[in-house]
Amino acid sequence: MSLELSPLAFPGIEMKRPVIISGPCSAETEEQVMDTATQLSKKGIKIFRAGIWKPRTKPGGFEGIGVQGLPWLQRVKSELGMLTATEVATPKHVEAALGAGVDILWIGARTVANPFAMQELADSLRGADVPVLVKNPVNPDLELWIGGLERINGAGIKRLGVIHRGFSSYDKRLYRNLPMWHIPIELHRRYPNLPIFGDPSHIGGARELVAPLCQQAMDLGFDGLIIESHCNPDCAWSDAAQQVTPDILDYILNLLVIRETNQSTENLNELRK
Ligand code: PEP
Ligand code: MN
Repeated sequence: MSLELSPLAFPGIEMKRPVIISGPCSAETEEQVMDTATQLSKKGIKIFRAGIWKPRTKPGGFEGIGVQGLPWLQRVKSELGMLTATEVATPKHVEAALGAGVDILWIGARTVANPFAMQELADSLRGADVPVLVKNPVNPDLELWIGGLERINGAGIKRLGVIHRGFSSYDKRLYRNLPMWHIPIELHRRYPNLPIFGDPSHIGGARELVAPLCQQAMDLGFDGLIIESHCNPDCAWSDAAQQVTPDILDYILNLLVIRETNQSTENLNELRK
């Protein structure tokens, strides 16, 4: 089935490869959010991510600060002029995030694996004009990923993109989530206009893997990268091992070799003219 897409244009952002989204796994405190965002902004990052609601494998961990953190994202927007992005997993999250003026929503891997949850989210997004990034489901099922995209698109969301964050496996020797690059490559073959972001943080699960995974994503013609960063990664309340400081992020981005792709997404090519 074809998707009805319009260009994934983020207001005020030059959609030049790679479009970078960065920020902590979780919004923890107002100070941590503002400190991280200020440092990122000084490095030229324009889109800030922070999880407000966190899907955790086991109960008892930090499950996100919740609506209390939304005003912090509003501060990032008003004081630093950055766009903000957060994860939504339920219609309540959608309502709260849109009510707080969050600019970009993403749907997490565990949610995308559940068609009922995806349909509920799609229904709650109907009529909203917001860009949505759909992560791959935790299991390596391209059709399930596409089904999720169809549900969101069917609700009238045309500014769609995807995030490749790798696939769960019992095998955790190197990667936290196996990249299985052939899956996003096949998705791109079928939907060449659908922008793809690489998520080296969740694929690698480790700081030292962020740089090579960013380069691999760029070599495969990905359009953007979503990279977790934190003002004090070792003390992060979630995903500490994979977060980098804004300084290290800047170092990693400067190392990247960006080659022109001959078949980048049509809409990004349009914007580049
Ligand atoms: C996240 O982006 O912090 C997150 C929870 O990701 P995923 O859904 O890929 O596990
Ligand atoms: Mn995370």
